[in-house]
Amino acid sequence: MAAHTIPPVADFSLTFLGTGTSVGVPVIGCDCEVCRSEELKNKRFRSSVVVRAGDVTILVDSGPDLRMQALREGLREIDAVIYTHAHLDHVAGFDELRAFCWRKHEPLPLHATEGCMETLVQMYGWAFSPEIFVPGYVRPEARVIDGPFYYGDLKITPLPVTHAAVETIGFLFEYPGAAKVAYISDVKIIPEETMALIRGVDVLVIDALRTVDHPTHFTLAEALAAVEESGAKEAWLTHLTHEFDTETLEAMVPANVHVAWDGLRILGLAHGRSCMAESSGHASADEIRCSGLALSCGIPGVPARGSDAGIGGDFIQFHPAGIEAARGDLPRGAGDSDGERDRVGHAGEGGHFA
Ligand SMILES: [Zn+2]
Ligand SMILES: [Zn+2]
Ligand SMILES: [Zn+2]
Repeated sequence: MAAHTIPPVADFSLTFLGTGTSVGVPVIGCDCEVCRSEELKNKRFRSSVVVRAGDVTILVDSGPDLRMQALREGLREIDAVIYTHAHLDHVAGFDELRAFCWRKHEPLPLHATEGCMETLVQMYGWAFSPEIFVPGYVRPEARVIDGPFYYGDLKITPLPVTHAAVETIGFLFEYPGAAKVAYISDVKIIPEETMALIRGVDVLVIDALRTVDHPTHFTLAEALAAVEESGAKEAWLTHLTHEFDTETLEAMVPANVHVAWDGLRILGLAHGRSCMAESSGHASADEIRCSGLALSCGIPGVPARGSDAGIGGDFIQFHPAGIEAARGDLPRGAGDSDGERDRVGHAGEGGHFA
C-alpha cells in the first residue's frame, strides 16, 4: 500500500452535543420504531454544539441536556456561551453553567442578541443582578451581540433568521486554515442578507425538523432547498424529530448532505475547503464516517488511523465504495410515518417553544 499524506487538520472542530428537537428523541411515552431503536445515532439530546478553535472553547446554547452532554463529551471548561435564541430547549440548562464557572476566575461571557439576553435576565435575574451574590452560582458577563466578534482568531458572525416570534440567530465560524462552518439550528426563513453571508460556505449545519410542514422550523425539503440555494459544499442536518431514523435518512439525502448525530465531530481541514468527521465515542468506531466532500477533494480513500491532526483520537477514512456499500445495507421503512407518530410529532412540536 502506498504511503498517503493526510492533510494537516486545522485546530478547529465542531462537536454535536445534541441533534434533537425540543422534546428530544426518544420522546417520552412514544413507542415508535425510532424511539424504541437501540441505535445510538437515534438518541438525540436537545440541539447544541461546542466549537473548539485553538485554545478557545465556545458552547452554543445551554439546553436542558447540558449536564449529560458535557459529561459525555468530557467538556470541562468553556470560554463563553453564545446563544441562538431564548427557547427553552436552548436555554433551560443555564444552571449547569455553574460547574464551568467554578473553573474560571473571571465571569463567564454570555453572548446573545438583545432580545435573547432580555429573556435570560428575566429567567435568571438573580445571576445577572449586581446586588445579589449567590456563592457558587453562575457568574455571567452579559455581552449583547450586535455584529461579528472574535475569540482569539476565531471569528463569529451572527446569522439572523426567522424562527417563531423570538429573535433568533445562527452563527458563522471562521478560523484561519479551517473550513467555514455555518450553524443554523432553528429556522423557518433565511433572509437574503443572511443567505449572502453563508453563500458558498464549506459546511452548513441546518435545521431539518421533519417532513411534515411546521410553522417555525424547516422541513427536510426546506432544509435541502436551503442547502442548494446557499451553495454549501457540505451540509449536516440537525434539530431532528423522532420521525427520522438516522441511517435511513442518510441514504435518502443528496451525497453532500449528511445526518448529524450526537457525538459527531466535524474537523476543519487546513486547505479551508473541506471537512471531515469523527465520532467522540457516542456511536461505535465502525460507524465513524468520513464526509463525501473530504473524499472528493483528493484525500486518499483508504482507512487511516491516527493522524498529525493535533486533535485527540483516531479518525478513520472510508473508501467511497465502502460508504456506498454501507448505504445499501441500511434498514428501510423506519422513516415511514404512521398516524400515531404523526400525531405525537404534531403534539410534541409546539410552535412557540421549540
Ligand atoms: Zn417516537
Ligand atoms: Zn430548538
Ligand atoms: Zn427554537
